[in-house]
Amino acid sequence: MYLYTSVVHLNRVGKTVANRLSILGIKTIRDLLFHFPFRYEDFSHLVSISQLQEGAEVTTHGKVELIGNKRSPRKRKIITEALVSDGTGQLRVVWFGQPFLTKNLHVGDEVYLSGRVSSDMLGMQMVSPVYERGSTGTHTARIVPMYPLTAGVTQKQLRFLMSQIIELANEVEDWLPEELRERIDLMPLAEAIRTIHFPENLDEIKHAERRLKFDELFVLQLRAEMIRQSLKRSKAPALNFQETEIKKFVAGLPFVLTKDQKVAAWEMLQDMQKPEPMNRLLEGDVGSGKTVVAALIMYNAVLNGTQAAIMAPTEILAKQHLQSLKQLLPEQRLALLTSSEVKCEQVELREKTKKGVEEEVKQHIAAGNIEVIIGTHALLTRDVQFHNLGLVVVDEQHRFGVDQRKVLKEKSGNLEATPHFLSMTATPIPRSFALTLYGDLDVSFIRQKPEGRKEIKTRLVAPHHRQKAYEFIRVQVQQGRQVFVICPLIESTDEKKSVMAEFKKLSTQIFSDLRVEYLHGKMKPKEKDEVMLRFVEGKVDVLVSTSVVEVGVNIPNASVMMIEGAERFGLAQLHQFRGRVGRAEHQSYCFLFTDIHSQEVQKRLSFFEKTTDGFVLAEYDLQTRGPGDVYGTAQSGMMQLRLATMRDVELIKLAREVARGIDFEQYPTLKEKVQEWENSVHLE
Ligand code: ADP
Ligand code: MG
Repeated sequence: MYLYTSVVHLNRVGKTVANRLSILGIKTIRDLLFHFPFRYEDFSHLVSISQLQEGAEVTTHGKVELIGNKRSPRKRKIITEALVSDGTGQLRVVWFGQPFLTKNLHVGDEVYLSGRVSSDMLGMQMVSPVYERGSTGTHTARIVPMYPLTAGVTQKQLRFLMSQIIELANEVEDWLPEELRERIDLMPLAEAIRTIHFPENLDEIKHAERRLKFDELFVLQLRAEMIRQSLKRSKAPALNFQETEIKKFVAGLPFVLTKDQKVAAWEMLQDMQKPEPMNRLLEGDVGSGKTVVAALIMYNAVLNGTQAAIMAPTEILAKQHLQSLKQLLPEQRLALLTSSEVKCEQVELREKTKKGVEEEVKQHIAAGNIEVIIGTHALLTRDVQFHNLGLVVVDEQHRFGVDQRKVLKEKSGNLEATPHFLSMTATPIPRSFALTLYGDLDVSFIRQKPEGRKEIKTRLVAPHHRQKAYEFIRVQVQQGRQVFVICPLIESTDEKKSVMAEFKKLSTQIFSDLRVEYLHGKMKPKEKDEVMLRFVEGKVDVLVSTSVVEVGVNIPNASVMMIEGAERFGLAQLHQFRGRVGRAEHQSYCFLFTDIHSQEVQKRLSFFEKTTDGFVLAEYDLQTRGPGDVYGTAQSGMMQLRLATMRDVELIKLAREVARGIDFEQYPTLKEKVQEWENSVHLE
């Protein structure tokens, strides 16, 4: 047998079991070795029956004296009862609903039993202990690993399989150079794998885990480092800080920049002065004022004689960017280029037809007559050729993909140089998480909100106050405000918490006299845009929607965000919804509804009620739900992390330090490992 032998060839694995294992991502013996326990139960202390104490989790060993099945009087379930003795005493053992036990265990058999000791009037007993016949201990009498399972695969089965193959761990090649491993005191890989499955003591587990976690984190860091090094090797136009003009720009703003905005802008201006591409992420809560920072550095790029582009995830957002930039940069030549609309500012166009205008604008862009280009992410796939693109900003995206970069370089108009890159996101990503996933990026944070913002009043509304909330909304609409109603589903069978059901209820019963519309992800892009546009223009009072409204659109007139089935959303996502209101001087409100009364849900939602900082909310989510749930698995790339978590801050730092500046030519195995990792996931 080899590492890459299919598990089908293992003893007691047939097609059915092999299929079930594949659900756990286990196809080969190697996969099985990398299926790590998520916790352990320490049954390594063998206790004689006379020493058993109520409440203890222990393993004991004895001989079966009696065993038999009976039916429980009330529930008609099968109960298996046994009596086990070891010369020091007798223990009663009970299992429920496992009649086949009497076929495995017979009077006279030696047996290990692991579990919790309880007692009743008749003395000590064990209820549903793990048992193992004989005198070895794979499942009992040791530190027993507990594996992630799936339907039809049991702990016993996995442990049995592991015991068959564990020696093959020696064949797993250690991809870390020995010199490096010794420098940071890591266990050899084969030893770590053996230990994680068959530890002898708890201390050993820690060492094995440290090695295996390091591997997971190190791959991420190495990948980031590879990107970073390749960027460093590429050239970018060095854009000087045009101090006088930028100061004038800042002085001309209708508000004072916050300290965080100034620091972020300064960091970017520093980056762009270097002849290597900036690669930065700007993180700031909704409404924290990222756009003006982007405008400032785009202006600086323009002052250096290069073009700047900004890309948004939706057309509406792109249009809003044009509106904002028109005000912030009134003298610059701007172009909006989306599939439904193409237009310019400060440039006279000769053409009148849609197609003609598009062609003419593209020519202006290619000739360098346009200074700032605004579009959706689709700008990349369109046949746009730039004259000399110096800076690209992507809004509401966590990072630039390697492919996106390549396309932009090709279109930039300067084959010698790569543009500077800035991505901006309102998704609050805590620092440790950013370090892991975005090791290649420099990150700027805007944590302060501009002054004078009114706090959005957030209330978890009890179901019997629903009517009151509707009355409140009606008053808001009478005062000219607009309202969002968010539902977790588009349609549902039980008519609850779905956009279509709420829309029907609100438009025909509750607010039949108001203008109610709906929006969801299954509508055609054009329909969605039209509804959104009507909402932006104030032609809709109440918009019932799924999470599609989440991303960046600005509707200053909206003052109420009502969220149905709030327990279904992560706190960071609820925070994004809440950020859709409170964007102007109107006092704004966020109402949460849930039918779930569990303590955990109530606790989470009350925490949200009290907390206004998106980062704090994201941290809370990360602690309680894990990054996959918070940021989406594919996007976060976290499915590759089996043992390591964001709480392993020290190891994250260590992995980052070791990766920084590493010479990939000297360590080809490291490069291979990153490629293997990239093939196994599909990021970006
Ligand atoms: P986001 O970070 O969510 O993209 P925006 O850039 O859209 O936020 O800014 C939200 C609003 O705040 C805009 O209307 C903008 O003009 C305003 N704004 C930005 N910075 C400041 C500031 N320092 N003081 C006051 N208002 C500001
Ligand atoms: Mg924005």
